[in-house]
Amino acid sequence: MGTSVLHIDLNALRDNWRALDALSAPHVETAAVVKANGYGIGSAKAARALQKAGVKTFFVAAVEEGVTLREALGPDPEICIFGGHMAGDTDMIADMHLTPMLNSLEQTTRHFEALAGHPFGIQLDSGMNRLGMEPAEWDAIKEIVIQAGPRLVMSHLACADEPDHPMNAQQLASFRDMTDGLPVRRALSATGGILLGADYHFDLVRPGIGLYGGLPFEDAKPVVRVECPVIQIRDVATGETAGYGNAWTAERPSRIATIAAGYADGILRAISNNAVLFEGDTPCPLVGRVSMDLITVDVTHLPHAPRSLDLICAHQTVDELALNADTIGYEILTSLGGRYARRYIG
Ligand SMILES: *Cc1c(COP(=O)(O)O)cnc(C)c1O
Repeated sequence: MGTSVLHIDLNALRDNWRALDALSAPHVETAAVVKANGYGIGSAKAARALQKAGVKTFFVAAVEEGVTLREALGPDPEICIFGGHMAGDTDMIADMHLTPMLNSLEQTTRHFEALAGHPFGIQLDSGMNRLGMEPAEWDAIKEIVIQAGPRLVMSHLACADEPDHPMNAQQLASFRDMTDGLPVRRALSATGGILLGADYHFDLVRPGIGLYGGLPFEDAKPVVRVECPVIQIRDVATGETAGYGNAWTAERPSRIATIAAGYADGILRAISNNAVLFEGDTPCPLVGRVSMDLITVDVTHLPHAPRSLDLICAHQTVDELALNADTIGYEILTSLGGRYARRYIG
């Protein structure tokens, strides 16, 4: 083992999807968001596992991600593109049978002119001011659009991970205003919105982070374990330092293990001198700065030389590690780069 390993539990992924699916009524479809390489775990493997569990609709951000997914999943599932129908994407949308979520009048015109009759959805802006048509824009074209038979009309919540935030009810009301009474399937919620309750579920929900074991889905099973091999162990005398910038100084005679992972592997530099790794159940402090390919860890208290140490595991979830770097589990997961060996269980 020369490189760090991502152990990915596809059974846990499927269990998380089933658990989220069980939170909405039977008539509500539970799709899956697999953008950003399936939140770092590998979009083709993740999507195939979810397809076996019964997922029929997948969402990605960009058309290129949709192409990868279509090649992995075959012709049956619907693959939706949050970014919509962008200039230059028409051939890929047609050839790979992708469903763009049209975000503006401009995209709608482009789609209807280039690919009349090809499936599409609509994204509305219910207040987040990021993507989608604003109420006035939608009002002007909704009659024509609805006649063309969109697969879905959707919007996205800005504050769903804070259940008491007034923005949730405000966006719900705005979305209802724009869509009540229209003969079309509707979708508003990602992971956070599913947890807000039935008012937010409409006809389809589209969880991402909860599938991969992240907050705000507190009952999620962990999907990812990050195991880092030890390359070398050395004895360091009191007063000696380790790593770039001499950012750590030994206060006692210490044993320092150097492990094969760094910020190029998504181990954010912000956790320098501020995280632990685990040898089994025993925490070992990360000491000094995280470098590009290497981390130094104090293993003085271990009775033997460890062969590898875990950075993300049952004792330290992605969200716990994220706190040390003042970020969120989403960023940790999607930063896990291409250098890991990805080993799939299940
Ligand atoms: C990323 C994303 C999702 C999934 O969100 P999670 O919080 O990961 O569940 C759903 N909808 C849209 C529009 C997104 O951009």
